[in-house]
This record gives sequence, structure tokens and C-alpha cells, in this order.
Amino acid sequence: MVRLIVDVPSGSYPVVIGQNLKRELKGVINRLDPTAVVIITDSNVKSWAESVARTVKSGRVKVSIYVVPAGERSKSLAGLGGVLAFLERKRIDRGAVIIAVGGGTVGDLAGFAAAVWQRGVRLVAVPTTLLAMVDSSIGGKTGINGVRYKNAVGAFWQPSAVVTDLAYLETLPAVQLRDAFAEVVKYGVAMDRGLFEFLQKQHESLIAAERRTLERVVFRCVTAKALVVAHDERERGPRAILNYGHTAGHALEAASRFRVSHGRAVAFGMRVAAKIALATELCGPRLVEAQDELLSDLGLSDRPPSVDASRVLAAIPHDKKSRRGKVAWVMPRRLGHAEPGHAVPASVVRRVVRKSLA
Ligand code: NAD
Repeated sequence: MVRLIVDVPSGSYPVVIGQNLKRELKGVINRLDPTAVVIITDSNVKSWAESVARTVKSGRVKVSIYVVPAGERSKSLAGLGGVLAFLERKRIDRGAVIIAVGGGTVGDLAGFAAAVWQRGVRLVAVPTTLLAMVDSSIGGKTGINGVRYKNAVGAFWQPSAVVTDLAYLETLPAVQLRDAFAEVVKYGVAMDRGLFEFLQKQHESLIAAERRTLERVVFRCVTAKALVVAHDERERGPRAILNYGHTAGHALEAASRFRVSHGRAVAFGMRVAAKIALATELCGPRLVEAQDELLSDLGLSDRPPSVDASRVLAAIPHDKKSRRGKVAWVMPRRLGHAEPGHAVPASVVRRVVRKSLA
């Protein structure tokens, strides 16, 4: 078991990473001394949420569970309405703690509900997907989708603690695990060469979901994200490095109407970004090759998805991080080091994207 602290201007909080962390979770909740506990979860992980309820139950505190249907559609205004109505029905006061048990979808929804209920109640994150463990449970971004735009409504609301128990991954479908590997590789290429090299050596045990390997990987990713978030809690600058691979990735996701999964799209986006960096002499060919090989080893093949290149190119300027249509690319310079804020000639982007989808 490892414990680290995320230190942000609005406060600091512990992240505990390990296996079978019932005692730690109980300790976290006891220390917060809540007036009530509300667990928010989804239909696929309800049994994990029930086990969390049994763990944190004590004579003094009432524990209730609210279950949303699994899937992104619950991260909506209607989904939020359901959560808030439940909190109202249960007369949940400001001294309560909300525990989010689930992947990034539940984490974003429950986190946003915690941010707005009674102008803010405490939140404990219990991530159950690899993506939530390495990414969404850290950093305090919460929110729901608008009618048209993803994550259109949200708040920064840091958790009081994150309890990352790798035992939950036992039931996670392999395809969800593989998708999260794209974000893991992102940390390696953009920030942590040691992690990249570890992944190169351990890709087989990672695919086999060996817990010890996963534990090390989660620890390295959380450390990387905590570092970035500590310097830029509200995403005003340096946090943009976490967007590596997401400019072309988001464009592909949107152009495919979300047929291509987020992980596959980010893998595509990283391949595109590295090739652009090579074409503009920002990095050498070894980086491109090593990244390609690692992504393929982790099951994120370079087979081009059947999506029209013009649609992908049209979606790129709509990247959230662009200003007045000017896209700021995160470019890898060498393994373990990427730089945000690069302007890239449109002709190079066109050539690389078309070639990558041919
Ligand atoms: P998810 O939460 O939708 O989970 C994927 C699927 O796996 C769901 O069907 C879920 O029910 C199921 N599942 C979860 N844990 C399971 C387990 N242990 N066993 C079996 N099934 C399980 O998806 P995700 O990939 O975790 O998160 C994606 C969401 O996270 C998106 O909405 C994205 O916008 C958001 N996100 C947020 C941040 C942030 O910083 N807030 C960062 C990245 C992504």
C-alpha cells in the first residue's frame, strides 16, 4: 500500500493506493466524522458500492446508496436532478460525506453533486476503473454534459480523500482496461520516462492485469497528475500537458460520433502528435517508433479507424484548449517530456492526419 498527498491551493488530500483497503476506507470516513454518508454509484458496480456501505457503516451514521444507470447518459442534467432529489429526500445536511464509487462517469456526476449540494459537501472518491484511478479521481474536475457539449457544466471540487483499491479492477472488462492504457502511456511519454520504460518491460503483465504491476503504474500516474495539479489547480496553464494526444483524439471521437472509444482515440491522437513533432523537428524518430510499439503492445493497434479524415480535420480547431481557432498542440520533445502551447502549420496537420487515416 502507498499513500501520497495531493497538495493544491484549496487544500491537500491523501490518495491511498493498494489492495483490499477496507480498513483504510473506514479510517478515512471515521476521521471525516460525517453526519451521514451517501454513496453514489452505477448499476454495474452496485455490488462494490454495497460492500463499501458495509465497510463504512457504524452505529452513529446513516449510510444510503443512490444508483444511476451505467453509462455516460447519467452524467446529465437529468442525472444530476435525480441525485439532488435523493439528497433532498434524505435530508442530507452540510456535514455529510458523499462517496463516489465508480468510474469517471460516476466520479464526475457525484463530484459535481457534492460541489453544489448545500454549496458544497465533502467528497471521497473510490474509483473502480483504471481510467478513474489514474486520471479522473485526481485533480478536482467535476461536471456533467450539456445537451450538446461534453462536460459543459462543472466545478472544481477537490475530494477530501481518494481510496484506490485495485481489487475493484477484478470485474472490469478487458476492453475498459485497455482503453485506460492510452492515458497511462500519455503520462509516460509526456512526463515520466521511467514509467514509459517500465511499461515497455511489463506490458504483458499489465495486459494480464497483474495487481502488483497495476499498483506501480497507478502510483506513477497519480504522482504525475498530482504534480501538475499542484502547480495549476484551475487549469490556467501547465495542466495543459495532460492534454497530450487529446487534440486529434477528441477530434476523432467527435468525427466518429463517439463510435471510436476514448482510449483508442487518445492512442490515435498521440500517434498523430508525435508524427507532427517529428515533421516539425521537435522530436526524433526513435520517440515515434517507441511510442507506436508500446501502444501496439498494449493492444492499442495502429489500424486506422474508418473515419473520414476531412471530418477529423474540421473538428480539430474546436479543441477546448484552442483560442480563436488557434490550436495549441502538446508536442513531445523526448521520452518523458512534452511541451504544451505549440502552433503547428496546418499543412503538416493535414498531411499527418490524412496519412494516419489512409
Ligand atoms: P465509466 O465510468 O463510464 O465506466 C465504464 C464502464 O465500466 C461503465 O459501464 C461502468 O459501469 C463500468 N465499470 C466501472 N467500474 C467497473 C468495475 N470495477 N467492474 C465492472 N464494470 C465497471 O468510464 P470511465 O472510463 O471510468 O470514465 C469516463 C468518464 O470520465 C467520461 O465521462 C470522462 O469525461 C470522464 N473523465 C473525467 C476526468 C476528470 O478529470 N474529471 C478525466 C478523464 C475522464
